[in-house]
Amino acid sequence: RSLEQVLKDGIRDVPDYPQPGVVFKDITPLLADHSGFAQVVEALAASGKDDDGTPAVDKVVGIEARGFILAAPVALALGAGFVPVRKQGKLPAATYAESYALEYGEATIEVHQDAFAPGDRVLVIDDVLATGGTVEACLRLIRRCEAEVTATAVLLELSFLPGRDRLAGENVSALVTV
Ligand code: 5GP
Repeated sequence: RSLEQVLKDGIRDVPDYPQPGVVFKDITPLLADHSGFAQVVEALAASGKDDDGTPAVDKVVGIEARGFILAAPVALALGAGFVPVRKQGKLPAATYAESYALEYGEATIEVHQDAFAPGDRVLVIDDVLATGGTVEACLRLIRRCEAEVTATAVLLELSFLPGRDRLAGENVSALVTV
């Protein structure tokens, strides 16, 4: 199966979730498909390799919660460490925090202050790029830790939202754009 077909088969639209009028992209069918999941992990890991296909990152960041599911196997595939970026209040040791605007209200994400060595090369993984607020805040966190963002890779980009513009100048790739 092509990657395109795998993504088509594995991502379903759920209307009116989490609120009326929103169509949620649900990736759980893809996660339940072993060969599809493996293909997607391989494709995301490509963003952490150099032109020769050699792994070129020290850490892979997963953004809570679906980002964890994808980033952990990507980290193993690249021989890199895994770092969780979590919602406020979930990480036990000293953290940095960054807030960003949501459609309604605000969200805060955190990372452990000692999650990276200075100069670590970092690949950021999440499932969906929507407005870009989450990834943007995540990149600020990584840079506060004096680590270097190599690339950001997502499964799915929603092109009717301004995520791409917001992240202008960043190295962002999506396996599929709708
Ligand atoms: P953003 O900050 O780019 O607006 O939203 C991205 C975050 O919200 C991601 O962490 C992603 O998991 C979640 N998200 C927003 N919309 C969807 C969606 O339709 N499907 C999924 N799976 N996640 C979404």
